[in-house]
Amino acid sequence: MATATATMQPNVKIGPTKLLINGKWVDSVSGKTFPTINPSTGEVITQVAEADAPDVDKAVAAARGAFDKGPWRKKMSSADRGVLMNRLADLIEKHADELAELEALDNGKPAHVARAADLPLTIACYRYYAGWADKNHGKTIPVSGNYFCYTKHEPVGVVGQIIPWNFPLLMQAWKLGPALATGCTVVMKPAEQTPLTALRVGELIMEAGFPEGVVNLLPGYGPTAGAAIARHMDVDKVAFTGSTEVGHLIMKNAAETNLKRVTLELGGKSPNIVFADADMDEAIEGAHFALFFNQGQCCCAGSRLYVEEKAYDEFVDRSVARAKKRTVGSPFDKNTEQGPQVDQDQFNKVMSYIDAGKKEKAKLVAGGNRVGDKGYFIEPTVFADVQDNMKIAQEEIFGPVMSILKFKDLNEVVERANKSQYGLAAAVWTKDISKAHAIADSVRAGTVWVNCYDVFDAGAPFGGFKQSGIGRELGEYGLANYTEVKTVTVKL
Ligand code: NAD
Ligand code: MG
Repeated sequence: MATATATMQPNVKIGPTKLLINGKWVDSVSGKTFPTINPSTGEVITQVAEADAPDVDKAVAAARGAFDKGPWRKKMSSADRGVLMNRLADLIEKHADELAELEALDNGKPAHVARAADLPLTIACYRYYAGWADKNHGKTIPVSGNYFCYTKHEPVGVVGQIIPWNFPLLMQAWKLGPALATGCTVVMKPAEQTPLTALRVGELIMEAGFPEGVVNLLPGYGPTAGAAIARHMDVDKVAFTGSTEVGHLIMKNAAETNLKRVTLELGGKSPNIVFADADMDEAIEGAHFALFFNQGQCCCAGSRLYVEEKAYDEFVDRSVARAKKRTVGSPFDKNTEQGPQVDQDQFNKVMSYIDAGKKEKAKLVAGGNRVGDKGYFIEPTVFADVQDNMKIAQEEIFGPVMSILKFKDLNEVVERANKSQYGLAAAVWTKDISKAHAIADSVRAGTVWVNCYDVFDAGAPFGGFKQSGIGRELGEYGLANYTEVKTVTVKL
């Protein structure tokens, strides 16, 4: 590992720190606040208003009012919604540098990476769904008899959205994009670790001219504010991204209350399969990126790296060399590839997986330690000779820990790849087109990348098989989660 020089945080502008309810910035009903922490130092950045159930009640009432009576559905056309969404995208673009720095401060990801990846994807997502606002129409159906039958795609209503901390701006866009395009109104809870950029975007939402109550933002904790959203009787749908464990709770809460619609984007343990005939330079760099990108905090991280026996030794050596070169340091240094983990909990969790790997006798070939004595930095870590039954091969680590496993042939690796509770993503590296297709066909995962990794586009759907989730985000498919189909039959 290389250490980037620590040029510490510049003067990052901090935006709003209150709740956004019905177009106004307000304190929480309880008056409580919580600290949001700078993961590079462990110090408090600022206090943020802490939402709980009474604030959720207020926000849901505002969203319901905006849905039933506001201009959003009564006066505005679907094209008008698209105009507002494009205006929001323009404002985010105008403030992209500032937002990238705020994201780096609150989350720990390198600001230059946020500026080059998170921001363009966020802006593109709002623009993509702005385009759908006036294009999501129904069908006419040739039913028997003398009837005219048509369908309408109506907004599902008031939507609760609970998002994680790993891509705060982008996850906000993935959720708001389809909800706003279809005419829903929203009560969103950003993650407690990273509320600041979501709130700054809230300010831009008001500046863009969205009617009050259409988007309400409630920073706060999961078991309080989050659970209150999932249990609310007047929330029509809940969309959640985060851990599989909490995904179960969301579904249970929905089942126990009003059967609100549920979409879940959860964890993964995605197989990344490298055949010996792959372009090795690309496969090594691609596998490095697939695992270490975003400090390893990606739901789709290529965290089970299967390498064909013939190429295994070379692959391990070169992957170790690459990991040792990875620069860890201040998110505000342009040379930094890897910042800190998001918080103390995630840091502890990742370190405990490193211990588990050592205990189960995987071969630690790079890293394994904390970096420095301040903040939550961890060395890029590589385990070789990992076996399928080890904890580090089965559970989501969500950190900079690569696990390399050896395989002999295609059928064997497919079977092993599918032996997981998860099914979010997979990748294959080979020059043989039939091997690539065989993997793409037989791996049970929502996304398969061939000779690439983490290629995202607002138009390409993303989501999981099995316990990696329910439903798809992005693309045309993402719209279905936010609409109810209404069938109208008219006697002629
Ligand atoms: P989490 O699932 O606890 O949190 C995600 C979001 O859900 C946050 O906004 C949180 O406040 C909220 N939440 C938590 N408990 C809730 C509840 N009972 N009801 C409603 N909402 C609730 O995830 P975490 O604790 O921050 O991270 C734990 C693990 O989850 C990570 O190590 C990683 O494995 C996984 N994770 C996955 C993703 C992803 O992109 N799929 C994102 C973050 C974390
Ligand atoms: Mg949690």
